[in-house]
Amino acid sequence: MSDTRYSVLFEPVRIGPVTARNRFYQVPHCTGMGHLRPLADAATRAIKAAGGWAVVSNQETEIHPTSDLTPFPEHRLWDARDIPALRVMTQSVHDNGALAAIELVHNGYHAANLGSRAPVLAPSDVALHTLVPKQARAMDKTDIRDLRRWHRAAALRAKDAGFDIVYCYAGHGMTLAQHFLSPHLNTRTDEYGGSLENRARLLRELLEDTREAIGDSCAVALRFAVDEMMGRDGMQAHEEGRAVVEMLAELPDLWDVNVSDWSNDSATSRFEPQEGYQTDYIRFVKEVTSKPVVAVGRFTSADHMVSLVKKGVVDFIGAARPSIADPFLPQKIEDGRIDDIRECIGCNICVASDNMGVPIRCTQNPTMGEEWRRNWHPEEIAPAPEGEAALVVGAGPAGLECAMQLARRGCHVTLAEAGPELGGRARREAGLKGLGAWSRVVDYRTHDLSQRAEVDIYLESPLSADDVIELGVEHVFIATGATWRRDGVGRSSRRGIDVTDAVTVITPDDIMDGMRPAGGPLVIYDDDQIYLGGVLAGHLCDEGHDVTLVTPAPVVSPWTEMTLEQERIQRELLEAGVTVVTGHLASKITDGEATLACTYTGRTRVIPCASVVLVTERTRETALYEALAGRGLGTLELLGDAAQPGLIADAVYAGHAAARAFGRPQDEVDAEMFRRETIAMGGSDAG
Ligand code: ADP
Ligand code: SF4
Repeated sequence: MSDTRYSVLFEPVRIGPVTARNRFYQVPHCTGMGHLRPLADAATRAIKAAGGWAVVSNQETEIHPTSDLTPFPEHRLWDARDIPALRVMTQSVHDNGALAAIELVHNGYHAANLGSRAPVLAPSDVALHTLVPKQARAMDKTDIRDLRRWHRAAALRAKDAGFDIVYCYAGHGMTLAQHFLSPHLNTRTDEYGGSLENRARLLRELLEDTREAIGDSCAVALRFAVDEMMGRDGMQAHEEGRAVVEMLAELPDLWDVNVSDWSNDSATSRFEPQEGYQTDYIRFVKEVTSKPVVAVGRFTSADHMVSLVKKGVVDFIGAARPSIADPFLPQKIEDGRIDDIRECIGCNICVASDNMGVPIRCTQNPTMGEEWRRNWHPEEIAPAPEGEAALVVGAGPAGLECAMQLARRGCHVTLAEAGPELGGRARREAGLKGLGAWSRVVDYRTHDLSQRAEVDIYLESPLSADDVIELGVEHVFIATGATWRRDGVGRSSRRGIDVTDAVTVITPDDIMDGMRPAGGPLVIYDDDQIYLGGVLAGHLCDEGHDVTLVTPAPVVSPWTEMTLEQERIQRELLEAGVTVVTGHLASKITDGEATLACTYTGRTRVIPCASVVLVTERTRETALYEALAGRGLGTLELLGDAAQPGLIADAVYAGHAAARAFGRPQDEVDAEMFRRETIAMGGSDAG
């Protein structure tokens, strides 16, 4: 412990029958790997344990085929055949000195049971939460008895699999135990409905059953949403939320508290810029229980963590996203390497992976999810052949990451950037409304590069092919990015948009360069449909422009469903006074008017338009790469947005992958693409 200011964070804490080595607690979070990729999942968790987290949890673990989240690969403990896959995780977590926690769940009407085709269960009859054409049925007493039996059996299997902490889960709006608590879902008239005591009965029974089954050697944790963030329509922290904690105060060995639903718990920095945004909701919990409390809030500041513990708000610093962005966060605090922490930017690309049902990825940490498949470690990288020098052209997220990792490998790195600052699109987009935290992508990498003597950085240095050859560096990485198109060619129109000469087309690049539309009605045409169109609409509206956002999509920024932001984005724009026109193509823009065509009928309408911002597609910046081809370089590689425009996360990943691959046989690198967990043929009945 090199800095005693933080020593309180490294005190051991007892949780029922087990003891955590410090106060860093990785709460359950999805990885998109789960039961389909248990080896990969275990490797991800093992890295967290190696990075100093005292408790490493898995993700929600279905206890029974009536809680089947197919096609999403969460964890599964339907029967004994699922134990070996989970044992891989507990062993690897234990080998690295941490406790392993499992989040048992019955998802009730959140699980469509599309694989098992079992009936969907709920406290009362209700249409499914997801848009699936069936309804859940009210559980009868036999169902409730069955549920308790399944949960108890799963807890015993969890113990058998080697877990130290077993969760009962009543959070995120995703679990039966919480559905029973919610009066808007539970309209029962028996002893499981009506009064709060009745609605909490099932949760109490699950806790008691679990404690009775495994409480001798495992801790029982309760993950509980103290506030549903629905105002009077849902549970509120100062009313029933508090009453539940009072009622069950000493029953679990640990309270893991947050707010629901998932979009409120995992709020993005765009909407909740401050870390600790849940603290006011959960602050009361420690006043009510003597048991240890863990809470989350995108904590990355060690000083903030210390104050939370010292003020008695929490016993454990909970983290999902900060542990994804930097699995070695605890270790770095312990070593006093605060500036080396790779802080989460709150973008929810990790969440998007789970929503897409694919292995987890992270903007800040490109190794996330690749620990097993590609054998990537967030802090370690093999040295490059001695004495190698490399040139990286372009200092956006791809170039910065590539330069940083090449330098870590021991190469002498020259980084040339045309502009006056490092960071490329990450810095530029961070200047837009709500995206300020994205500058952390740049800050972390520029800090690291500034510590390294073997790195030369040249700003305001737009390189030509001759400049590159003149530099005499044999290995060249081109990360020159992409620019937004001016012709309107995009997702919905390969012909582009008819814009008369009198109209100046403005692109997102122009806005980020400081250009502003003239006065009068401004049309932002978003055929990109990812996030930037919505961001620009909010940004320019705040600056006083009269904004109409037109998109062929049915909603604003539809992709942001994946990051749990879509509803907030549309609500915020509407409340700010942005006019939203969905389901329309921009077909013609003249001086003063925009002609829009309905995406279904083609019927046109005309709206006033003094200026237009087109957010459609990007053009890759490949001129330098093409001019260098055939000029005898040892390495010439195009990466990031210049190779394939995508998310900042994709650019960082590409920069990382290129640096790792440098100097290695191509077939070895290619083989990583094929590494996967295969299905053992054959089947068996429940064991
Ligand atoms: P990526 O997301 O792939 O990192 P960006 O667009 O964020 O791409 O960054 C590309 C960077 O490359 C920009 O900062 C741009 O100024 C810089 N750049 C483009 N062409 C050149 C060049 N010829 N020489 C040096 N820098 C360049
Ligand atoms: Fe944080 Fe974004 Fe990484 Fe998720 S993807 S952990 S929100 S930086």
